[in-house]
Amino acid sequence: MLPFKLVYSDDYYLPIGSHVFPAEKYKRIHDRLLVSGIAEPSDFVTPHPASDEDVLLVHSPQYVEKLKTGTLSAREQMELEVPFSPALVKAFWLAAGGSILAADHALNDGVGISIGGGFHHAFPDHGEGFCMIHDVAIAIRRMQRDGKITRAMTVDCDVHQGNGTAAIFAGTRTASEPLPSVPTSTLNPVKTKIRGSHTGDVFTISLHQENNYPAWKPPSSIDINLPDQIGDDDYLAWLDNALSSGLRQFDPELLCYIAGADPYCEDQLGGLSLSIDGLKKRDELLFRVAKARGIPVMVTLAGGYARNVEDTVTIHCNTVIAATEVFTK
Ligand SMILES: [Zn+2]
Repeated sequence: MLPFKLVYSDDYYLPIGSHVFPAEKYKRIHDRLLVSGIAEPSDFVTPHPASDEDVLLVHSPQYVEKLKTGTLSAREQMELEVPFSPALVKAFWLAAGGSILAADHALNDGVGISIGGGFHHAFPDHGEGFCMIHDVAIAIRRMQRDGKITRAMTVDCDVHQGNGTAAIFAGTRTASEPLPSVPTSTLNPVKTKIRGSHTGDVFTISLHQENNYPAWKPPSSIDINLPDQIGDDDYLAWLDNALSSGLRQFDPELLCYIAGADPYCEDQLGGLSLSIDGLKKRDELLFRVAKARGIPVMVTLAGGYARNVEDTVTIHCNTVIAATEVFTK
């Protein structure tokens, strides 16, 4: 039995037809975890959909109304980059409910992993980049509303910048200090952008490929703009650096890890060169840091578009394995 819960439902499946986003990955990950003996049926918990009230903690009433009534404009539907349907709305509400449940389990057990979610490109008033609503932000706001936490940190390791996360928490962004220079001379030059002028309750960190979607990257508390084709060692050094810097300035009661599989070298929508082993080391690094500081971690999966979908499944399953290895010691 795992030392934490996995949040999953067959209804995480996104009804988007044939698409570069492999909507069947959630079930494949679930099945692989069971067949390989990594998890047992009792390790899984089933989420309920978020309530509209939960969703409204982050999203504008106008946008929620459009989603519920199917009245997005043609342009808004195009920006989503997935075909709109009422069934898709239901799937996203369930993903948000799954992230709320994972956050709750994280606060109780130290770790909570949703085999879904991570829709970090959704803004308060619109969706884009396959993301309709921002499940992670909804979970954070719900935990805050319930008085379970006041301060959260997001650590976004998807290859694409967490533009929705940055925009949602911009009003409460915590000022950041410059990153210390990295002592490793082998590191490629990387542009780090550190902005923010508010003392706030959510600190946002994003490590991403600079030359990739989204074109406009609203500032996170810490943005690590990585050059094309960066490999395992440099990536891990920058993650270590960003975590150290962020946690020196900010003391979160919940860490929300967005564990995108798309920094992988074989990804169709990414341009970084991480190996499957390097991505597992990334997960281990994050979990070790959180464990050492006693910070609960909730995990969502976000993107993953490997040419071979089985690689995407492996990378996401490895996140569960890494958490198991770190948190059972
Ligand atoms: Zn991505």
